[in-house]
Amino acid sequence: MNTLSFKPREMIRHGNYCALVQRKSFSRTVAIRVEPNGSIVVTGSKTNRLKGLGEYFVTHLDWVKDGIRKAEDLGDQFPPFIWKFGGYVPFLGEFCEIRRGSHKLKYIEWSEGVFWVSFPNSTPSQACFRNLFRSYYEKVARSFLRSRLEIFSKQMQVSPKRISFRSQKTRWGSCSSEGNISLNWKIIAAPKEVIDYLVVHELAHLRFMDHSENFWNFVEEFSPRNKVCRRWLSANQYAFDFLETYSELHSCRLPFTALRKSKV
Ligand SMILES: [Zn+2]
Repeated sequence: MNTLSFKPREMIRHGNYCALVQRKSFSRTVAIRVEPNGSIVVTGSKTNRLKGLGEYFVTHLDWVKDGIRKAEDLGDQFPPFIWKFGGYVPFLGEFCEIRRGSHKLKYIEWSEGVFWVSFPNSTPSQACFRNLFRSYYEKVARSFLRSRLEIFSKQMQVSPKRISFRSQKTRWGSCSSEGNISLNWKIIAAPKEVIDYLVVHELAHLRFMDHSENFWNFVEEFSPRNKVCRRWLSANQYAFDFLETYSELHSCRLPFTALRKSKV
């Protein structure tokens, strides 16, 4: 049975800096990372002493400061997203205006680059806006991605066994050795060319499971501008943050409470 319990997290403090400690039983080395929201995490094994982890943190302080600066730049580049009428959201690579619709109930429609949106409440919360758009994006993505998969699988003469849709934070797609393809529905916010590249990339894995030269040559046949699309994806990794329930860039920098699931 899953229960919730309060368990204080281990922390390392040094001057104005505070790092969370993550212990993994399989971890052999000590490592440090700065997350996109600026949180500092020190990872070690279950047996590493807190003092030793703290010393490691202090000796890498310059690196940490640099990481925090980069996280702050990222936060400036992609400021917190505010859902509102008159605002703009990316959809199929275009910024579309959100306008107030005339329906009495919750409603969303996309027409000629404009989202017409209605809520029963005249001042919907950020969560109401986001959830409505998330479900609309997912619905459109499922049918759009399926049709692109169908078109490209014919051209490439490959056939996936099963297709599923997910919404991971850091992965756009995957192809298993059994031939199952999974795509991240949030890609529907990206330009069509980038969506097609992702579809081609995953389908190409049905022929080549690695990222070998043969793989990329195969991709290039059906997505000639794949390099541009890959660059676009890495430069815009956080442009999809507006769809996240918990922003990766602007969520709390330090855990206010440590609510954890523990198995009993
Ligand atoms: Zn791949």
